[in-house]
Amino acid sequence: MQVLFLGAPGSGKGTQCKKLSAKLDLAHLSSGDLLRAAIRENTPVGMKAKSFMDQGVLVPDPVLIEMFREALSMPALKKGFILDGFPRNLSQAESLDKLLEELDMKLNAVIDMEIDFAMLEERLVGRRSCPNKVCANVFHVKFAPPKVEDTCDFCGTQLIHRSDDKVEVVSSRLETYKKETEPLIGFYKAKGVLKTLNADDTPEHIFQEILKVLQVAV
Ligand code: AMP
Repeated sequence: MQVLFLGAPGSGKGTQCKKLSAKLDLAHLSSGDLLRAAIRENTPVGMKAKSFMDQGVLVPDPVLIEMFREALSMPALKKGFILDGFPRNLSQAESLDKLLEELDMKLNAVIDMEIDFAMLEERLVGRRSCPNKVCANVFHVKFAPPKVEDTCDFCGTQLIHRSDDKVEVVSSRLETYKKETEPLIGFYKAKGVLKTLNADDTPEHIFQEILKVLQVAV
């Protein structure tokens, strides 16, 4: 199964993608995670991406398209994949179409996590992330605090406040989403694959809705 998630930063799509990937044994391809790993490892992609990410704007399309051309060509994707954070504008979406055609694949569903924009700033600024890449769980100082302050419940690593979750960068990320990414909702609606879900709900309930939409036995 090939699924794509759309949703503003802070809509909770990363959390849902992680759960779905574990449940259905699908590869979770998160553009943000791939870029952050490239930055940590100081690769040429990481060096190109860093300044854009620090400002909360999109990294240039060719970097992402190349990164996903490589990721989608991996034999480990035979069971399918979940795309999280790519595409993020129309030109990337068109490139993805071509890429999938070349690889003889198609998207079974595009899930749009719909949420009131007014909630997102608080969700993002309060977010704390586990930097351990095999864990990568996300908490919130108010809505989902860890049991021990600033410590991951699952692996004990010290949580971080991502530099682009700081208040100065969050508004730019949200503006970028509105301008660049929101038009993808219409793009995928026109293709007949769009499923819209209310993302202002508990993570458990949203997950059940996703499974229903994908018609997977719970
Ligand atoms: P995320 O973790 O998905 O919120 O992504 C963090 C940052 O990575 C974004 O604010 C962008 O700077 C960059 N980024 C992630 N995905 C893309 C993409 N598809 N195109 C361009 N930049 C991206």
